[in-house]
Amino acid sequence: MDNSNTARCRYHRTHSGKWHCPDCDLTLCGDCKPLANRLPHDVPCPLCQTAMIDLEAGTPFWHDWREILHYPIERTALVIVGLAGLVQLVTPAGLSTLLAGLPVLAIFLYYVAVIIDRSACGSNAAPDTADLADRSRIDARLEWVKTGFVYAGALLAAGMSGSPLILAVAILLAAMALPASLMAVAMDGKFKAAFDYPRLTTIARRLGMDYNLLAAAALVVGATPAVVFHLPGLLLPTFVHATLLTLVYGWACLSLAHAVGRELFRYRRELEFGAGEDPIDRPLPPKPAVHEPVQALADARVQMAEQRSDQARVTIGEALTRYPRNRELNRRFEKLLAAEGRITELKNHVERVLHRKVADGDVAGAVDHWQQHRDSLDGWEPRISATRHRMALELEARGDHRTAVRLLLSLPKTDPRYGRLPEACLDAARMLEEHFADQAAAEPLRQFVQQRFPARAATWFEKHEFSTPELQKQPG
Ligand SMILES: [Zn+2]
Ligand SMILES: [Zn+2]
Repeated sequence: MDNSNTARCRYHRTHSGKWHCPDCDLTLCGDCKPLANRLPHDVPCPLCQTAMIDLEAGTPFWHDWREILHYPIERTALVIVGLAGLVQLVTPAGLSTLLAGLPVLAIFLYYVAVIIDRSACGSNAAPDTADLADRSRIDARLEWVKTGFVYAGALLAAGMSGSPLILAVAILLAAMALPASLMAVAMDGKFKAAFDYPRLTTIARRLGMDYNLLAAAALVVGATPAVVFHLPGLLLPTFVHATLLTLVYGWACLSLAHAVGRELFRYRRELEFGAGEDPIDRPLPPKPAVHEPVQALADARVQMAEQRSDQARVTIGEALTRYPRNRELNRRFEKLLAAEGRITELKNHVERVLHRKVADGDVAGAVDHWQQHRDSLDGWEPRISATRHRMALELEARGDHRTAVRLLLSLPKTDPRYGRLPEACLDAARMLEEHFADQAAAEPLRQFVQQRFPARAATWFEKHEFSTPELQKQPG
């Protein structure tokens, strides 16, 4: 845990570290792993792809068992546990203890709820009186209290059955389910979630071994009174014995509540639990189309800084296959290829971008993109016929007649993949006549189409005679 306080981001010296990869000894801040803190899955290291450690989440509860046991040794906690013990001491055993104990149990359970609530926000200090009176959280905390009553009632009923076997089974089941129940209530804000079996198993699976240890701790706490009550040879009077037991049991329950809260905080991303927030106020996790490109760009930045440009190219390239229209991904990919002198790959990439833009109907965008790269690519021209044809028409509209005609004239005359080749030739002939008065060059093109594709030529002429105003004006 010391690590988290001292570690700084490798690339932002003023930012404290948030993610750490022990294999690469790499510490990154939140900016270097954008949006990762709001996602319910592992955060991979940009260099080795293994899951990074969340430095803010702290260590597993069983690493810090001393801290957990010390947690309730504090004034408010001692007062509440002492109160419970006092009630045990002054009321004679039997039904009156139970009746007097109910309000004390309610107060105690509320205090447990406050501890879980606070610990789930990452607090390692026991709540003070102001925390207890926090009105904004009362509703949420009462849901935990209800859950506690159900568990307490079930255990009491099992105890009163008089059968040690029933009691043992009840304690075992309760210990297995209780931590997940408390977590389900934290996530859902409703006490019913505590008894939603699929929910509980999901939580237990997400926490894995940490959950087993938490359930084991709950079993130890739950079994303590049963074991102590059945110890032979009691020397103390029963009520003193019960009082001592209440104190020990109270202290153990508060420690356990803190442990559950800590694990909730550690697993808050995986459990999609917004600490200290009502479910309705929690921000939704970002959509993949939002976080994936942003994270690929951030990872590529780290990879570049670590002189791993090959890896950076793969990172951006993979993200591009999923989000081919993402402007920033495209820009960075082109920059990477240009910086490394990978001209062939850059040409292939620009070709794909132009093709996509034309297919999307963004011909103007395609022309802009091409002009931006033309010089650095030694006057390279797109090879796909459809792209050329559509871009030529756009260039003509922009007044760049020379480039427009050149794109059309260099179209392969026998491209079987392009169905509109005859129209492209006729467009070229029209441009030659209109803009360059080059009848000599236009005529063979027209004849070529009329001979090879007479029907297409007829349709084209019909369309341009009657629907294009400037052509109608032309003969006059
Ligand atoms: Zn950083
Ligand atoms: Zn790593």
